[in-house]
Amino acid sequence: PSREEVAYFGAGPAPMPTPVLEQGARAFLNFEDSGLSLAEISHRSPTANKILADTRAALASLLEIPDSYEILFMHGGGSGEFSAVVYNMVAMWVEKRRQMAERELGDAQEEILEKVKKEVREEMRLDYIVSGSWSLKASQEAANLLEPLKDGGKVGNLVNIVTDAREWNDGKFGKIPHEDTWKLTSPKASVFTYYCDNETVDGVEFPSFPKCLEPKEEGDDRLVVADMSSNFLSRRVDVSKYAVIYGGAQKNIGITDVTLVIVRQDILAAAPSPSFLHDVGIWSPPAILNWSIIAKNNSLYNTMPIFSIWIAGQVMRSLLSTHDDAKVAGQEAVANAKAEIIYRILDSNPSVYQVVPEKSVRSRMNICFRIEDDATEKEFLQGAEGRMLQGLKGHRSVGGIRISNYNAVPMVNVQKLASYLEDFAQRKR
Ligand code: PLP
Repeated sequence: PSREEVAYFGAGPAPMPTPVLEQGARAFLNFEDSGLSLAEISHRSPTANKILADTRAALASLLEIPDSYEILFMHGGGSGEFSAVVYNMVAMWVEKRRQMAERELGDAQEEILEKVKKEVREEMRLDYIVSGSWSLKASQEAANLLEPLKDGGKVGNLVNIVTDAREWNDGKFGKIPHEDTWKLTSPKASVFTYYCDNETVDGVEFPSFPKCLEPKEEGDDRLVVADMSSNFLSRRVDVSKYAVIYGGAQKNIGITDVTLVIVRQDILAAAPSPSFLHDVGIWSPPAILNWSIIAKNNSLYNTMPIFSIWIAGQVMRSLLSTHDDAKVAGQEAVANAKAEIIYRILDSNPSVYQVVPEKSVRSRMNICFRIEDDATEKEFLQGAEGRMLQGLKGHRSVGGIRISNYNAVPMVNVQKLASYLEDFAQRKR
């Protein structure tokens, strides 16, 4: 079949806008008649620099990112950022505490070191809201990286699980527990509060920014870190509420190999000294995950996938040109409308389709549901294949069906899928 004949709903890598695939094919062979492939050009060339600048500008415009934020292109995907968040934010917290101790103790270096060491082990906490498989993985990575600080298990839990959604839903993900039940560390002791805005595997999306993470008083600077890998650029976001937002490009923004990180500049400015960190017993962030180093080098610390960054820029440009206001609001309306079409059919056939998550937290991006039994699910998938509707199998860890409704899924494909869902339900009712 041709690319146009297939309606693809894969969860990541995800569908791409056809015009971008076509431009990409040309650029891969011969970029803008330069005689070179975009995969061949130097990441230090003026062309590469322009691609970085253009892609940054498109993202800043779509998301209305304030000037006080830096946009970084990184390696390592969402998983790389699970580690980067811990490395960078802990180093910054330690530096802040060192400066406070210095103000109090002058240049009594031994005492400063002892004070900060004690605070790291007794006070410091990393807050994780666990609402699905990806935030769980991120919290496990934090626990793994911090394990050496536990001093043989004498220290309390450095990773604070603010809430684990499974405890409120029979051991499974599918809801976001009420904020009244969350156990947050005080903003002063908390290195950051982490959440995953859209849980790709479990189909759970935060309906809005959690209220209890809003600043309660002047100077109450709770640093919020969000993984937006699977709902990036699908709705408006008040970037100023976050310390860090990140996501792999391969779902809503482009192809794999590049990770976007939006980070508040004051976090990069902290510049902890590696030797002090080592004395405290903390690693200095590895260069490749070190946001300050990446920022100082204009995201060209080492060889970057310029082709992937260019593709992300083209996807953003195509989103920008689809909507008059050049912002993400238009994309949000489209995403909502597409998701509503699917959920309406699922909800009106409850004897055939059972949506997994609770209604109030259903994802607009990853629509997860079950069909009565394995054999019927298989029949559903086979029938879908027969109509060239692909990429619908649920994640291997949870099974079921998952429809991924990312930015590049056109309405016409949603309509094709909707009519299949109707036909299948009619046969099974
Ligand atoms: N976070 C979310 C929400 C994801 O959906 C994924 C991957 O699907 C990841 C993180 C991990 O991303 P990567 O595969 O780029 O490491």
